[in-house]
Amino acid sequence: MERIVVLGAGESGTGAAVLAKVKGLDVFVSDFGTITAPYRAMLDKYGIAWEDGRHTEELILNADEVVKSPGIPETAPMIMKLKAQGTPIISEIEFAARYTDAKMICITGSNGKTTTTSLIFDILYRAGLDVGLAGNIGNSLALQVAQNDHRYYVIELSSFQLDNMYDFRADVAILLNITPDHLDRYEFKFQNYVDAKFRITRNQRKEDAFIYWAEDPVIDREMKKLQLGATLYPFGFNMPSPLPVGEDELALKGKHNRLNSMAATLAAQVVGIKNDVIRESLTQFAGVEHRLQYIATVGGVRFINDSKATNVNSCWYALESMNTPTVLILGGKDKGNDYSEIDDLVREKCHTLVFMGLHNEKLHEHFDSFGLRIIDTNSIEDAVKGAYEAAREGDTVLLSPCCASFDLFRSYEDRGEQFVREVRKL
Ligand code: ADP
Repeated sequence: MERIVVLGAGESGTGAAVLAKVKGLDVFVSDFGTITAPYRAMLDKYGIAWEDGRHTEELILNADEVVKSPGIPETAPMIMKLKAQGTPIISEIEFAARYTDAKMICITGSNGKTTTTSLIFDILYRAGLDVGLAGNIGNSLALQVAQNDHRYYVIELSSFQLDNMYDFRADVAILLNITPDHLDRYEFKFQNYVDAKFRITRNQRKEDAFIYWAEDPVIDREMKKLQLGATLYPFGFNMPSPLPVGEDELALKGKHNRLNSMAATLAAQVVGIKNDVIRESLTQFAGVEHRLQYIATVGGVRFINDSKATNVNSCWYALESMNTPTVLILGGKDKGNDYSEIDDLVREKCHTLVFMGLHNEKLHEHFDSFGLRIIDTNSIEDAVKGAYEAAREGDTVLLSPCCASFDLFRSYEDRGEQFVREVRKL
């Protein structure tokens, strides 16, 4: 019997294990950290062998194939050993796709994935299609294929998932943008990250669609080099708009969301959805938490939660959409950031910067010379209080950190929720 070893038992790993079990494979799950209670319960329910807190080599190196969770880096010792002995290592999406004939609509990019994925799902769902939402959002693709397969999937793909995809073919692939992110996982070589993103077009044929932001300089440069098999659907600000509604009618505000809405519209049209359904969704879609989310106005100061801005480019778009003087809260776990991208917008829109992290040195080095008020903090409580005190009536306090959250928080969601809690205390 084929032996599948699943490394990492979060949402994707647990889903892959369940699918492997349901398909009659010999499956073992190993997680170097702690498997949380709901996933442990799920593994037990299906009678799947697992371990946590360690990787037992004898139980792993005998795998015919390994499904790796996207959070485990290629440089992890166990991955290196598996690679050295030639064991195939695949992603959960690659594995799950073998067991379904559904149409796959896949979204990648440095920013805007969750928003665009959710919007496309909303359109397809409103249109009455049998559709599942997968990838980084909701239940894993593998679990859905195992328990309740759909005819269509809208899948958010990170570069880490794409890294371990080989035979997978997207019926519709969307590439929103490429700006430096996660360079720590790509040997600090931007091209490696770019190549990972373009893997979304792998195996595509003429009958498949590739939808991409043609004005992104990095995508544009790559497109000039590559000969892709898919039918191409470029979009951009300076091209005929595919949107079936006026720009000011879009439910999602901001320049970046206009691009996300264009990408979603093209995907829906390719799938054959009528413009009136698309129009309804584009004008009514409620948006996704922690992305430029308005929280409250306190003492005339607006508070916006953009905790999901974990890189510099997404903060750029957040600042770009500000139309009042702004107090920006930024900082956290730096992933090799170059802050110069936001220099002009910081100078134009911000009068105060609140640094919030365990290591604010790099922020000081970059911004201290700007002549703005700088408030140095290492807790959300101090950051919110400091920002509120520095803000004047009519200003906006924007949490758009440019950084990952793991120095002070469990996740960006935790950071956003704590921000909201502190704002409510003011
Ligand atoms: P992802 O899933 O790729 O991280 P999200 O939809 O969660 O993307 O948005 C992440 C952040 O990027 C948010 O702060 C949001 O305001 C910003 N953003 C959304 N769409 C875009 C885009 N097309 N270009 C740049 N930034 C964007």
